[in-house]
Amino acid sequence: MATLLKGKPLADKIKVAITQEVTELVARYGRAPKLVAIQALENAASSVYIKNQKKVAESLGIEYELMEFPAGISQSELEKVIKRLNSDKSVTAMILQLPLPGQIDAGRALSVISPDKDAEGMHPQNVGKILLGKYSIGPCTAMAVMELLASTGVDLYGKEAVIVGHSEIAGKPLGLMLLNKFATTTVCHIATDKRGALADHVRRAEVLIVAVGKASLIKGDWVRDQAIVIDVGINKVGERIVGDVEFEGASAKASQITPVPGGVGPLTTTMLMRNTVEQFKAQLAGIE
Ligand code: NAP
Repeated sequence: MATLLKGKPLADKIKVAITQEVTELVARYGRAPKLVAIQALENAASSVYIKNQKKVAESLGIEYELMEFPAGISQSELEKVIKRLNSDKSVTAMILQLPLPGQIDAGRALSVISPDKDAEGMHPQNVGKILLGKYSIGPCTAMAVMELLASTGVDLYGKEAVIVGHSEIAGKPLGLMLLNKFATTTVCHIATDKRGALADHVRRAEVLIVAVGKASLIKGDWVRDQAIVIDVGINKVGERIVGDVEFEGASAKASQITPVPGGVGPLTTTMLMRNTVEQFKAQLAGIE
């Protein structure tokens, strides 16, 4: 039976390290990092996320400000706000809360955020640094998965790593991150499934990461004996929240497996805060 790879104890450990680092930075530079969240569309899910961000930021000594705008905000008004924050020296980093109103081109708005103030690690320049293997910030979900893997102590060198899902927040950056660790990395996606090849790839995986958003996509008996399984998926089935991997069958074969909920989820906000602190350090290094 697999050991559970829980996100919360790991997040708590990382938070202790962040708090210590922030305390040292405040003592040295006389100010704390500041994260600004921009919200233009009230939505139950993003409001929960914002409340959690504020709580976590403040518990770590990071200032947090929520800027709310009416849903009728235009693209140019929103971009003006972002540009103003880009040049505001008191602001360390910002996050554009999704979803945005329909008239806003989210990709265009995101690309206006300075790469030096990108809290989510999604700016093309920051994503490019992952390709080059030189990065201190990255997309929070992918960074959370890498932290979970590191916590297992697995040596990724030469390991068969299979990722299912090729989104920009998870599968694609994880492909690069695992390559940087010399894992033999396969990224499966919708076309892999349509070709009927998903099971064959999953059966080879010593490290399996699934980030799709389809309950029971990965059958328990596909999981390789002693595999490490990270299930990023979040799906509502009736009243239950489940991942993309059939948990019972998979945990009978895997050595370690993330529970859903309680695996990757508790780490993502912590990664957002770590990105903010990394941006703060880079900005301070630039003025020293
Ligand atoms: P996404 O942008 O919708 O990406 C899903 C990916 O899966 C896409 O690359 C998609 O390919 C691929 N896909 C779809 N059907 C597939 C199939 N049958 N076989 C193989 N690949 C398939 O989703 P996301 O934002 O990455 O999120 C994925 C899941 O993780 C969701 O359930 C989300 O709620 C969850 N999530 C959890 C956390 C957390 O903190 N735990 C954080 C973020 C996301 P195409 O686009 O080509 O169809």
